[in-house]
Amino acid sequence: MAKIKRTIETDRPFADALRVREGFVLSDLDPRSTPAFTGKKDDGKAALLEHDDELSGLQEKLYAASVGGNSRRRVLLVVQGMDTSGKGGLMRHVVGLVDPQGVQITAFKKPTEEELSHPFLWRIRKRLPEPGKIGVFDRSHYEDVLVVRVHDLVPPQQWARRYATINDFEQGLVDDETSVVKVMLHISSAEQKDRLGRRLDRPDKHWKFNPGDIDEREHWPAYQEAYQAALDRCNSESAPWFVVPADRKWYARLAVQQLLLEHLRALDLQWPVADFDVQEQKKRLART
Ligand code: AMP
Ligand code: MG
Repeated sequence: MAKIKRTIETDRPFADALRVREGFVLSDLDPRSTPAFTGKKDDGKAALLEHDDELSGLQEKLYAASVGGNSRRRVLLVVQGMDTSGKGGLMRHVVGLVDPQGVQITAFKKPTEEELSHPFLWRIRKRLPEPGKIGVFDRSHYEDVLVVRVHDLVPPQQWARRYATINDFEQGLVDDETSVVKVMLHISSAEQKDRLGRRLDRPDKHWKFNPGDIDEREHWPAYQEAYQAALDRCNSESAPWFVVPADRKWYARLAVQQLLLEHLRALDLQWPVADFDVQEQKKRLART
């Protein structure tokens, strides 16, 4: 059954529906909505499983092209979102289905002393994916214009300059055959409250709970404003933002999987042609 709404002009229904365009207003997007998908939770879960082989297959092709075809092509998926927005689940349920050798996941935490002694992109550059791989950032350089802006961790003149620095940085990545796919998981404050409550109810989730997360809720409007600014100011044609409604976890996972798939399909990857004579090798093998 066709649950994914195909658009007429392109084969990229999720990218078309979730792409941040001129005039986008974050607070106008319903976090419970399911753009480009008509099904319910069970359909969404089924669609996710249906496509996991394709995602692994495309990553393998990406890797093969880097080994056999000298391609430098790689993909960087940047995932941002408020606490409990589902970043961890995305790593397990979407990225986790790809060959572990093909993905490089980095979760960016509060910077260490050493990291703070360098420019903010220093620790980011060290974690860029190698050719043939899918790099995934669970939080990213955007924290340096989000939490840093909300809490004035550096003077305003300093974080204000970072939008342009980030645009230059990302353009450099794109010029160097890195596809940059940026995703914001958009949850509502009420949903976050529920999820934090559930963490407190379950001893097996207490490790994920941080009392500071409750204090951060007081800054919700400032965070939304900081996200809006990042979406507005760092949304180039070559490294666009996608905002994924994330109050329904199953939808967010499906949407990010589909964004990756749509992207990888569009690369039109080819298996590299053998640099040996296949017939000759068959004969040699038969003689052994
Ligand atoms: P979590 O993703 O829940 O494990 O939390 C990671 C924490 O590190 C979050 O509170 C982030 O806001 C914080 N963090 C990540 N990057 C930075 C940064 N550049 N500056 C300050 N805090 C950061
Ligand atoms: Mg946290």
